[in-house]
Amino acid sequence: QWIYLNGEFVKKEDAKISVYDHGFLYGDGVFEGIRVYNGNVYKLEEHLVRLYNSAKSIMLEIPYTMDKITEIIIETLRKNELNDAYIRLVVSRGVGNLGLDPASCNAPQLIVIAEELAIYPKELYEHGLEIVTVATRRNRPDVLSPKVKSLNYLNNILVKLEASLAGVSEALMLNNEGYVAEGSADNIFILREGVLYTPPGYIGALEGITRQAIIELAEELGYALKEEPFTRHDVYTADEVFLTGTAAEVIAVVKVDGRLIGDGKPGQETQRLLDAFRQKVVEDGVK
Ligand code: PLP
Repeated sequence: QWIYLNGEFVKKEDAKISVYDHGFLYGDGVFEGIRVYNGNVYKLEEHLVRLYNSAKSIMLEIPYTMDKITEIIIETLRKNELNDAYIRLVVSRGVGNLGLDPASCNAPQLIVIAEELAIYPKELYEHGLEIVTVATRRNRPDVLSPKVKSLNYLNNILVKLEASLAGVSEALMLNNEGYVAEGSADNIFILREGVLYTPPGYIGALEGITRQAIIELAEELGYALKEEPFTRHDVYTADEVFLTGTAAEVIAVVKVDGRLIGDGKPGQETQRLLDAFRQKVVEDGVK
């Protein structure tokens, strides 16, 4: 496996960075997770725009153009002979001294990892997920915006830890006002009386690229869709609940905090959206 590391391709075993990199020392950097379907990099432009926006927000200047990064990604896929893959794009602040100030860092580091896709087990889609809500809150949008996909993922890691302590694989974060924000690495949708709801950006969540794709797809398929805040109660009493994300695509949730959603089986509309999404990813890709 070949990893792109600052201008060269190195073997996985040799892909190492300095312990003085501020991405390592402080989580100072940004990243993206991107999917490749049958050789097509899905929504690459959207991912790159989000990457550059995240970087801008933390005053990290990416020393590459979007075209150059696109080229590097394509080359990484080619070199690893991957057709269906997961790409991890990382830009860290770079090597500096032990002080917090990024001024000591000489240059950002760009890393591209392309791996064979670890597809979620089919049973998860057939049976749906059981999830819980956790004590970890989404960070406030007025401080460090959750729209920044930074290397500091401690909130999300705490969510995962709380989920495993509860014996489930995923969990939901609320924001400081108690509105449902998102999962550890997925956005949430609920369906009630034929209307789809997802929390609006200001609630505090990453603006998921799969979320946006589902919003567009839902509109095409004729669903009414509202970006509105909702609470745990609304989730418990929804007809259907599902999560969206690059890795999971669209996955049904059948139990939340011990409450069965609908009849406890993945919802029909969720399945319809997943099927339509999978159909579309092939058409939407950029070679
Ligand atoms: N929320 C968080 C915190 C994430 O890390 C991710 C994954 O990237 C998502 C939501 C889903 O976003 P996307 O659909 O762009 O993968």
